[in-house]
Amino acid sequence: MTDHAADPGAAGPGHEVQVRGAVKRYGQVRALAGIDLDVAAGQFLVLLGPSGSGKSTLVRSIAGVEHLDGGTLRLAGRLVSDGRRHLAPEQRDLAMVFQDYALWPHLTVTGNVGYALRRRRLPATESTRRVQDVLERVGLDGLATRYPHELSGGEQQRVALARAVVARPGLLLFDEPLSNLDADLRERLRVEIATLTRESGASAVYITHDQSEAFALADIIGVLDHGVLVQLDHPEAIYARPATPFVARFTGLAGELPGEVVGVEDGAAVVHVGGCPLRGRAIADLSVGERVTLAVRPAATRILAADVHAPHGSLSGTVTDVAYRGRGYDHVVSCTAGVLTAVFDPRPWTRGTPVEVALDPDGCVVYPTPVSASEIDRYSTVLTAVSIPL
Ligand code: ADP
Repeated sequence: MTDHAADPGAAGPGHEVQVRGAVKRYGQVRALAGIDLDVAAGQFLVLLGPSGSGKSTLVRSIAGVEHLDGGTLRLAGRLVSDGRRHLAPEQRDLAMVFQDYALWPHLTVTGNVGYALRRRRLPATESTRRVQDVLERVGLDGLATRYPHELSGGEQQRVALARAVVARPGLLLFDEPLSNLDADLRERLRVEIATLTRESGASAVYITHDQSEAFALADIIGVLDHGVLVQLDHPEAIYARPATPFVARFTGLAGELPGEVVGVEDGAAVVHVGGCPLRGRAIADLSVGERVTLAVRPAATRILAADVHAPHGSLSGTVTDVAYRGRGYDHVVSCTAGVLTAVFDPRPWTRGTPVEVALDPDGCVVYPTPVSASEIDRYSTVLTAVSIPL
């Protein structure tokens, strides 16, 4: 295990994390169904998935709070868990930040942050300096003598963040740390987490069910579904080539349209959707005549006047709802083949207007599975009710 106490001035090299065949059961529930995962030194991994998909179980197993039933876990090359062997959390050179802050109520801000250094056996002056430095870094130096109950939620989470990084562990684990904060604060703390983690050199595993948080933070994203790691890749790759309809839905779609393949070339497919030829990336081998689903990313849609046709194909429809979003307006457009939600335009198009929606092939993905009626129903014709179920 790395201990940076020998060189208190240096940030530690992040731990490589290697998970192989990780299995965890709770009675009949397989919370982890054989996970393989690698995080490179200093890399920021975000685990994304709906509630109950196994995110917390995986992070808690890496932390050592949970015991794996099978598989192996290595941190910085060291075997820390293999189903029989289990190294205690405090021996893994890592720190964790929780959704509910988990501060010591009887310790001040300084006490809480300094507590994390107790195992480092630093000279008192060095400990004090480090605590002061990190409190300044998170903007809490003026609140050092306060107790947790005298702080706002955002301030408490900053203390938790300071406590996590002060000992410069090789791995930082985050369990939905922003969930209890309001939108503006979430944004600011997200930036602070990204900056502090990257400055520290630590590797990070961060869990969330919020796709925008995942895309903003991650070097790599792992998408979990029912204890299975469905895709592990860079954010850009997950966005452009989601491995399954589940990953596509979970990372944001404007709609899913049923169609039939009329042409296939170089990983792309031309699909007839309601009689209109539309292009998209083919996620699997497809044949002409096959019934498929064209999944459309919101960023691939552009609204045009009814008589204008786009070079790469467009669908005719009618605006059924519009909502102001600050930078512009989101629209719902009902087309014969299905509904497209979150169709953005800087100016509003009134309800009932006939329009064309141009579709950029780079933001369209073609799956071999035909879309079911219940999946089509996810895309409501009114924006207030738009819900992509998590
Ligand atoms: P997530 O973090 O993605 O919401 P969890 O890892 O918390 O998912 O849970 C994965 C599955 O394991 C769920 O079905 C959950 O109900 C179950 N589970 C988690 N912890 C326990 C536990 N202590 N006892 C029984 N079942 C659990």
